Amino acid sequence: MMKFATTSTAGMLVRLKMLLLTGLLLALAIIAPGSGGQSYAQNPLPPFADSWNGVHSFLTYSPNGNYTTSFIQSIAWRYDFGFSVGKFRTVSERHGHVELRYLSEQYTDDELRRIFRDTANMIDFYEERGGVRYADPVYTQVLAAGGVEQEMSSFTALRETYGRDVLANERAIWLAAHELAHQWWGNMVTNRDWTHFWLNEGLASFMASAYKERRFGREEYMKDIAEYRANYEKVRDAGKDRSLVFPDWNRPTREDRTLVYDKGAYVIHLLRQEMGERAFWNGIRRYTRKYFGKSVVTLDFQTEMEAASGKSLRTFFDRWVYLRQS
Ligand SMILES: [Zn+2]
Repeated sequence: MMKFATTSTAGMLVRLKMLLLTGLLLALAIIAPGSGGQSYAQNPLPPFADSWNGVHSFLTYSPNGNYTTSFIQSIAWRYDFGFSVGKFRTVSERHGHVELRYLSEQYTDDELRRIFRDTANMIDFYEERGGVRYADPVYTQVLAAGGVEQEMSSFTALRETYGRDVLANERAIWLAAHELAHQWWGNMVTNRDWTHFWLNEGLASFMASAYKERRFGREEYMKDIAEYRANYEKVRDAGKDRSLVFPDWNRPTREDRTLVYDKGAYVIHLLRQEMGERAFWNGIRRYTRKYFGKSVVTLDFQTEMEAASGKSLRTFFDRWVYLRQS
């Protein structure tokens, strides 16, 4: 998550219902097209496209002018649900066991393929580093109006201008890489409560930079790390450094968010240096595999990293995570 905004086209969404069925999540959106009165036979295609978590199941049109669209998701324990509705163009590509879907009102099919060209490689990279396959049969990315930057389960909404940024510079993919990383770290390995939020955001930011390192080289990775560090040091120098495990997360300040995102990612980079390549990535795999589909606290992360390194990391965690004297 970066920040939340609504993504539906104004006026199109009338109401939505969610039903939990045994082992399945079935989500229904009832949408008024603004051109009611037509029968389904006269108007089989709706004047919009939509996207939700999971796989599209069915679409019906009722005589009162409402469309009902439904999506089915086979795994229901995740918390991150959302939807987009708009006059979207949809491009679909298959990558192994995952269908990739790209939606936009603004961009051509060719542009959408270029904007999301890295998605398949990102999935491969996170599967390799996490040691766990992407969990859903579909991953959808929507370029939506407004400032949205929000991961959801099997689905991400990004601001429309993200597309222009990537078309101008193929290296400007940090945001999509960050949000996709949440499909592992955040959505499937989930902090037990918000006080451990840095596990979601620090890891997603770090993994986005690690992907850029794989794709563009070490220099690109180090540029990100330098930025995380500089952002963190600004907060520290202002006397606002705090433990990454917050006593509460009710009203986070701007500085608190910088700590969770930027210091979080920087500290994971420092841990990588501390442990060395082999032990560090073994630890990431141990942690991800063990807690995939479960919730975590910071001690779970520390314990798995220690098991991979074969030594105590207490001094490191005290200094960098908890901000206390060993
Ligand atoms: Zn995030």
